[in-house]
Amino acid sequence: MIPYFPEALTNFSKPENEAAFTAAFERVSSQLGQTCPLIVGGREIYTDQRQESRNPSNLEQIVGFVAQADKTIIDEAFQVASKTFTTWSQVRPEERAGYLFKAAAVIRRRKHEFSSWLLLEAGKTRAEADADTAECIDFLEYYGRQMLQLSERGKQTLISYPGEDNQLEYIPLGVGVVIPPWNFPLAIMAGMTAAAIVSGNTVLLKPASQTPVIAYRFYEVLKEVGLPDGVVNFVPGDADVIGDYMVDHVRTRFVTFTGSRDVGVRIYERASKVHAGQIWLKRVIAEMGGKDAIIVDEQADLDLAAQNIINSAFMFSGQKCSACSRVIAHEAIYQDLLDRVVEKTRALTIGDAVNANTQVGPVIDQKAYEKIKHYIEIGKQEGRLVCGGETWDKPGYFVSPTIFADVPADARISKEEIFGPVVAFTKVKTFSDAIAAANNTEFGLTGSVFTTNREHVEEARRTFHVGNLYFNRKSTGALVGVHPFGGFNMSGTDSKAGGPDYLLLFTQPKLSSEVL
Ligand code: GLU
Repeated sequence: MIPYFPEALTNFSKPENEAAFTAAFERVSSQLGQTCPLIVGGREIYTDQRQESRNPSNLEQIVGFVAQADKTIIDEAFQVASKTFTTWSQVRPEERAGYLFKAAAVIRRRKHEFSSWLLLEAGKTRAEADADTAECIDFLEYYGRQMLQLSERGKQTLISYPGEDNQLEYIPLGVGVVIPPWNFPLAIMAGMTAAAIVSGNTVLLKPASQTPVIAYRFYEVLKEVGLPDGVVNFVPGDADVIGDYMVDHVRTRFVTFTGSRDVGVRIYERASKVHAGQIWLKRVIAEMGGKDAIIVDEQADLDLAAQNIINSAFMFSGQKCSACSRVIAHEAIYQDLLDRVVEKTRALTIGDAVNANTQVGPVIDQKAYEKIKHYIEIGKQEGRLVCGGETWDKPGYFVSPTIFADVPADARISKEEIFGPVVAFTKVKTFSDAIAAANNTEFGLTGSVFTTNREHVEEARRTFHVGNLYFNRKSTGALVGVHPFGGFNMSGTDSKAGGPDYLLLFTQPKLSSEVL
């Protein structure tokens, strides 16, 4: 088997790539407005209740309609998933991994179609959509290989003991509930689902309500490659109606969630309750928020830092849990750095994500738009607005990249996750002060340090408490298998998506010992 390596990104400056993308985009545009059914045990279910999915760049445009599950359908999906688990959990790991490899091949072949759905449903620019699709392929390829390794691992890791045959097998958990985010609606949704099923579990997949159509397109690929019915049950629905119900359900063995801190905490608390008839403790795998800082030291390449601050803070309008929302800069270079970042920010093109030259697209929905606006008002009290701050909600939800200067490290905009294109600059006197300021939140997801000082590199490695620590590069864009992704404290359950330990979270080790 070819060793895993991350999928190459598309170079859109090549005319043939641009043409291929445009052709795919036209194909996808002709499929807008269709209705996606629920899928339980392979059966398509159309409900009276449908949810609309609209393009956040252009709210007049309906991307599609999606049927909505109610509690009765969820009960049925749990029954089907439990029954399917008895067979699927016995399928050989090689065969399970094979479905992931085939799905990766299909998505690679139709890459630009998937990216086009991401443009239309999530408001991603071409480059951001292309990276999301590439990461989806990576998760499928990587977890497939990881499963093959895991199935061998138990035999190798035990101490051999005379007269005994000892084996450690990583067996699946049972039925899982997969609750992915809207911000990587293809990559993370597919990654969470793929990890769960390749490990031998069956799932109920409840896509994010902002991005259900792209999730349905992924389900179609699983169907196309012959994944047995009932392994993935596609159950979009209103979180207020089915969210708690799924987490609380007596048949739920694990919940895998990526999203906000508050929802993550709620799931964690609810899943801890043992319900009548439940014979296990539920496992929760949660990846939550971040309040990620970029530290710029006295000795640093300021142009490199400025460009990476822009990329980390404003691409996809800062809607990544890895996005830079704080810049903590040494007083000696603070003003120079701020000027460079402001100048580059003013040059960004904001607008409809469909336009090839757009660099910053819309934010996802009205709720996000209102929340970001609210934090911009708070920022005006806590710091000095030096750039951006404008918002408009027609034809979509737009927020201009916004910079606040001279923000204290304990201000609300320095500590609370905004999830938008808003960044706070804080001035510090020493490198140690910079680390202390960076650590001064309840999160611990990503962080970057720009410095050419070797001692400071080592100091940050020891004391900057984040799951993904980067030097002289952006805080976003972790590559599957290369930069396992996930953080500490309120950033989640300390798991690492795209890392060598991830599948362990979806399995339980069983020892068998035979006397010979
Ligand atoms: N893995 C992504 C990155 O490194 C962020 C994931 C997220 O926002 O949930 O940028």
